[in-house]
Amino acid sequence: MTSIATLGSHCSLQVLKGAKDEGFKTLLVCEKKREKLYRRFNFIDELILVDSFPEILEKKCLDILEKNNSVLIPHGTLIAQMSSEEIESIKIPIFGNKWILRWESDRNKKEQLMKESNLNLPRTIPTPEDINGLVIVKRQGAAGGKGYFLATNKEDYDAKRDSLIKQGILSKDEQLYIQEYSPGVLAYLQFFYSPLNEDIEFFGSDQRHESDIESLARIPSSVQIKHEKVPSFNVIGNTPIVLRESLLQEAYDMGERFVEASRRLVKPGMNGPFCIEGVYDENAKFTSFEFSARIVAGTNIYMEGSPYYGLLFNEPMSMGKRIAREIKNADKSNQLDKVTT
Ligand code: AMP
Repeated sequence: MTSIATLGSHCSLQVLKGAKDEGFKTLLVCEKKREKLYRRFNFIDELILVDSFPEILEKKCLDILEKNNSVLIPHGTLIAQMSSEEIESIKIPIFGNKWILRWESDRNKKEQLMKESNLNLPRTIPTPEDINGLVIVKRQGAAGGKGYFLATNKEDYDAKRDSLIKQGILSKDEQLYIQEYSPGVLAYLQFFYSPLNEDIEFFGSDQRHESDIESLARIPSSVQIKHEKVPSFNVIGNTPIVLRESLLQEAYDMGERFVEASRRLVKPGMNGPFCIEGVYDENAKFTSFEFSARIVAGTNIYMEGSPYYGLLFNEPMSMGKRIAREIKNADKSNQLDKVTT
């Protein structure tokens, strides 16, 4: 019997509840410090207690997962806490395409895949000397927006970078990525591609709430100007945003192009959940600055089922449940290798 496992963080409650509802045994790799929290949820059948998540690579943990025929559902915490090499070396089947996770973590690969998908991207600024206008400066990897900052020229960049280094938020030798800032309404478009049905589904969209950049709008500019602190883009939570229906066609088109490009660049392609992240400008033109090649925490807003999945499935369907449904269908038809790597 196949079971479903994930790491205790990010969207693990949603994933394991969906798995339980689809009839799977559920396992959670859980940091000891969070045991008490996760024991509250009776749809989690087994906790594998660890001091830190990379222990999932060790025999003791792997043996339990192997014995349970577990499929591991990757999410943001796996990517944030383990290197691409470590993730690729995991011996049990991983839902979706584990090879594409490297393309999410590496800024150059990420840009290549987004360009191949013909998405509209903000310009990359090669060096601080080239800054001429508003830019956002980012860290490598899934930093979650912490340590990001805005700058308008080289002096501004240097002053803020130095200040963040002094505060211990950035390290001195850290290579930063500079991107043109795109103003507009944030929208994170969530999709699922089913290799079994060979079809893409639009699940919904969310916005991230980031501290403390958002609080700036509550402070008059006369006060802001005297306030030295460099605001951060640290994600605190998510809320739903429903797009105008006239934007849906283009959302589907972007998702389809992303799936096709992934198939060309990183086999077997973008299977399972993914997210294209960006902003709609004043003309409702979408600029995407990021993608996630696995379930995003923004899907947690629809644990009871997303409105669009209500339309497609005629039943409440969360992303966690959708993943479990795909594994169930694959299992029944002996095609688990088609939905895992
Ligand atoms: P990221 O790690 O690329 O998802 O960026 C974290 C946050 O920074 C996003 O959720 C946005 O609020 C903001 N952001 C990132 N890139 C841009 C951009 N090019 N223009 C405007 N805002 C951005």
